[in-house]
Amino acid sequence: MLNLDSCRNVLVVGYGVSGKSVYEFLKKRGVNVSVYDDRDGNIPDRVMDVQCKHFDVVIKSPSIPFMLHNCHPVIKEANDTGIPVLSTFDVFRIYNPNAKIIAVTGTNGKSTTTALICHIMHKAGFSVEMGGNIGVPYFEMPQAEWYVLEMSSYELASSQYLDFEISCVLNIEPDHLAFHGNLEYYASAKHKALEHAQFRFISYEDEITMSRYAYRDNVVTISTENEPNSDIYVCENAIFNNSTNRIAVNLSVFPNLRGKHNHQNIAFAYAICKHLGLQSREIINHISSFVPLPHRLNTVRKIGNVVFVNDSKATNPGSAARALATFVGYKIYWLVGGRSKKVDPMVYIRDYMAGVQKIYLFGESMDEFGAVFKGIKKTVRCQTMMTALNMAYQDAKLDNGASVVLLSPMCASFDQFDSFEHRGNEFVKMVQGLE
Ligand code: ADP
Repeated sequence: MLNLDSCRNVLVVGYGVSGKSVYEFLKKRGVNVSVYDDRDGNIPDRVMDVQCKHFDVVIKSPSIPFMLHNCHPVIKEANDTGIPVLSTFDVFRIYNPNAKIIAVTGTNGKSTTTALICHIMHKAGFSVEMGGNIGVPYFEMPQAEWYVLEMSSYELASSQYLDFEISCVLNIEPDHLAFHGNLEYYASAKHKALEHAQFRFISYEDEITMSRYAYRDNVVTISTENEPNSDIYVCENAIFNNSTNRIAVNLSVFPNLRGKHNHQNIAFAYAICKHLGLQSREIINHISSFVPLPHRLNTVRKIGNVVFVNDSKATNPGSAARALATFVGYKIYWLVGGRSKKVDPMVYIRDYMAGVQKIYLFGESMDEFGAVFKGIKKTVRCQTMMTALNMAYQDAKLDNGASVVLLSPMCASFDQFDSFEHRGNEFVKMVQGLE
């Protein structure tokens, strides 16, 4: 591993949350560090006209593209000049060579599963912290023996010093394809987490991952579709352990973690904590005290027969499908929009559309989704989320059955908001302001 302390000049590319945190960490250690960022703004030690030959190493923020088809010019120059390019994870690894790491990745469910594993371990007395893509930069985590890290495909694809005790891939569905090029590359990025782990936990229903890993050593397979050939499987409302064929966890006692998708997250957390030596009873107790993360299928308010649900984190059709599945039996007034992920949503949502009464479109993807749902469901063009919410509420309150006004936008937020959190917080404020 590179010794960064002995480098004369280090360049950090990208001054977002992760880049800033690495910059500040290295600066404090006395490393001579400069920053490059395309955006305007107040950036310390900024260099505008970068010549990579003046640097010993380049550190890339997670969202800076580096693949052949989209490589950022500074990263390309570093590659062409033979200057090593490290990820922010690599820097963490260099300074924490003995940390025991549990890596959590997948298309959906990473944050929930990361937080759940960390919560159970913490309650069970482990010295453990969580961070990474979940919003806590590596260098802001307090020192611990164990780290549960949410790893994005961007970060995995560009890291060189991956080395995990345990890693899991929850699921793989098309997402971030503009960044990675195609599904194969995207899956390969996720699989790097498995490649560099001592123990691997994978989903029985994830065909791509099963085809590559099912017969490797130290693999635990987890099914949410009652597949008894897997090591751990979810059937009805319970998790079964194949070795005993007995119910290990009764899932109906966790009303905070509703839906099959959350059962997958619980099953992974259970399997990993079992592997760490915890007893089932202890794991179940700790799951019960877990408070779900915000913006993931959270009930905001109920007015009469209408429930308002904030699922702003549903930024792709796969996660929105889980939201629709969770509200089977309800009349769904669905708010959809933002920056599209350009994948056909019908593949994911087709089976869960029966309850959808109307779709309220906002943001830059209105035309795209207007065309997708034409002849399938009624849509209304609302431009803004505020108009979408008001129109949906007007319609829902005229209904007499159980209704849900559901923000599960299946798009990124960046066309009208700073982040999915910003979008979710605005939604919550608007709902709380309703008469
Ligand atoms: P990530 O960090 O991978 O984006 P989150 O836990 O933040 O995952 O959840 C993101 C969205 O995906 C939410 O809308 C949530 O309801 C949904 N979701 C959570 N877990 C899963 C899962 N295992 N499979 C599919 N969707 C999920």
